[in-house]
Amino acid sequence: MRRTQVRDAIVLRRSPLPSGDVVATLLSPTGTWRAVVRKGRLPGGNLARLSLFHDVTVQYWRRNDDDLALVTQVQLNGALSGLTRPEAYPYAHLLAELTDALTVDHPVSDRWYALLASGLRGLDVHTDPEAVGLAYAWRLIATAGLAPAVGRCARCDAAPDRLDVADGTARCGEHGAEHGGAAADASAGAVAYLGEAGMEALAVLVRGPLASAVAEPPSDRARHWRTLQRYVRWHVGEVRALEAIARDAAARPAPARIEAPAC
Ligand SMILES: [Zn+2]
Repeated sequence: MRRTQVRDAIVLRRSPLPSGDVVATLLSPTGTWRAVVRKGRLPGGNLARLSLFHDVTVQYWRRNDDDLALVTQVQLNGALSGLTRPEAYPYAHLLAELTDALTVDHPVSDRWYALLASGLRGLDVHTDPEAVGLAYAWRLIATAGLAPAVGRCARCDAAPDRLDVADGTARCGEHGAEHGGAAADASAGAVAYLGEAGMEALAVLVRGPLASAVAEPPSDRARHWRTLQRYVRWHVGEVRALEAIARDAAARPAPARIEAPAC
C-alpha cells in the first residue's frame, strides 16, 4: 500500500546510479536511511535541493518496509551557502562522512542529528572552519562512545604527553611504549605523541565545552589531524575526507615543532 511519509533530514551522501537515478544517504533525528530519487520523476529543483549537507524535509513513500524510500518531494529548510567555500568544504565532507561511518553500528539517537546540524552551521559561518571541523569530529566520535580517556596517564596518573591510539588511553612518557600483539602491528605505530600541551588541547576537543574547543584550537594542527586520522582508522575505519585533510595539513608549513623525545 502506498503511504506517503515526511521526515526532516540532512544529506550525508549522494551516489549517482548508471540509470541516472540518485541514491541519497540521509540523517534524520530517527537515524541514517537511504532514499532513491528517480531521474525525471521529480518536479524541477528537487534534485538540486537534495544536495550534499542540505537541511531538507523529504516526502517519500515505500511499497514495503524493506524497500528503498522513493522521494516524491523535497523542501529546502536551510542551504548553508558558506559550506561551498573552499576553506570550509573539506570539513563539511569530513563531518558528513564520519557521521555516516559512525552511525552504521550505533543505535538511533537524535544527538547525531543535532550535533551534525550544529557542526554544519558552525562551518557555514565561522572564520576558522578547520577548528570547527576538528572539534566536531572528536565530538561525533565521543557521541559514538568511542572517545579516548584523555585525563591523566592511565598507568600512573601523571600528566600525559601521548595517546595510545589502540586502547584509547592517555600515557606519560614512561608508560607510552608498552603494548604488544595487534597494537604493535599498526603500520603508523600505536602511540601518537602530542606533548603535554597537545594532550591538554585534545582533552578540550574531546570533552571540554564545544565553544572552547572551537575557540582555542591546538597550536600544532597537523599533528592533531594525524592523531585523529590514526584514531579513526583504528576505531572506525578509513574516512576518505579525513585522509585528505591530514595529508594537506602535513604539507602546510608547520608552526614551532614539538619534538618527540628519542625513545
Ligand atoms: Zn604514566
